[in-house]
Amino acid sequence: MRVYLDNAATTPLFPEVIDSISSVLRDHFGNPSSIHFYGRNAKSIVEDARKTIANHLNASLGEIFFTSGGTESNNTAIKCAVRDLGVKRIITTTVEHPSVLESMQNLAPFEIECVMLGVDLQGRPNLFELEAHLKQDEKKTLVSIMHANNEIGTMNDIRRIGEICSQNGALFHSDTVQTVAHFPLDLENLHVSFLSGSAHKFHGPKGIGFLYVNSDNSIKPFVDGGGQERTMRSGTENTAHIHGMATAFDICCQNMAGMRNHIIELRDYMKAALIKEVPGVKFNGDPDGESLYTVLSTSFPQNAKTDMLLMNLDIEGIAASGGSACSSGAIKGSHVLEAIDPRDERITIRFSFSEINTRDEIDYVIERIRKILT
Ligand code: PLP
Repeated sequence: MRVYLDNAATTPLFPEVIDSISSVLRDHFGNPSSIHFYGRNAKSIVEDARKTIANHLNASLGEIFFTSGGTESNNTAIKCAVRDLGVKRIITTTVEHPSVLESMQNLAPFEIECVMLGVDLQGRPNLFELEAHLKQDEKKTLVSIMHANNEIGTMNDIRRIGEICSQNGALFHSDTVQTVAHFPLDLENLHVSFLSGSAHKFHGPKGIGFLYVNSDNSIKPFVDGGGQERTMRSGTENTAHIHGMATAFDICCQNMAGMRNHIIELRDYMKAALIKEVPGVKFNGDPDGESLYTVLSTSFPQNAKTDMLLMNLDIEGIAASGGSACSSGAIKGSHVLEAIDPRDERITIRFSFSEINTRDEIDYVIERIRKILT
């Protein structure tokens, strides 16, 4: 049996998404910039997808820009805010995705002040500290705080963070790569300046995503060339994957409550079984509070057997992840686990679920963990 429990790294495509992509590749191959029938046809596919995404986020069409995914969206938001909007300080947290943290590191030539907020044991920054920083110094600031952490699942109150930013004249970027299409997001009612999404986290294709840029913020083009994406991001559009992303987004939004209940049931079932089977097991983040229901970050007491657990699970056909899998599978210490508790030497495995997982699969995983650890 093969069980895929690494859905925070990427999700399998829904069959309907594969069909929708194939149909565009086969029948609608025109270049959206061409003025003839084929071009107009492709253009309407791109614009329909934009409409689907904007509608689900309660945003305007002009606020959605297609990108190659979460990494590009995060880079663009941060670098354009500095280049075009006079940002002199960025406030972020120690547990952001590398595409946020590394983007900031590379802004050294702009002489930007970087403030890193530490996090508590559950992985959340202190919002009073954020507010105090903003009040203490009124220089133009971009706050970049993720909606949900990809390693431990902890969610931040982006409604409250947006209010704090807006009350203090700061811009707010949120990396919502793990929550788009899994949680309702109403951008008309959130004070968010920039927001990032990536299709492969919600059963869409890889290499496609979007950046929401609130219409109050006028940034300049971030990829120059033929003027696509209303001159903001030039390059011939990936029509098929844009369509596939919108199809996946639509399916997730139409079925959000049912999918969520199914996944929560599986995650809680697995959590209860692990508590029963593995003495000393611990769960990171805030799994019983505001948390990504798709993620169960599990720490096992360190010993010779747990040291090899991830590899032995792989041998048994079970795919999970140690820390974050975003950095090309490289085995390196997790900056997130380090930030929440640097002294913890437990072995952490992130199990992450999707709609497609079943209770039989969880039973199999538990049975194999029992076998490996005894
Ligand atoms: N932000 C978060 C929170 C993520 O989990 C990931 C990928 O795992 C990214 C950004 C990067 O997204 P992409 O893989 O689309 O570049």
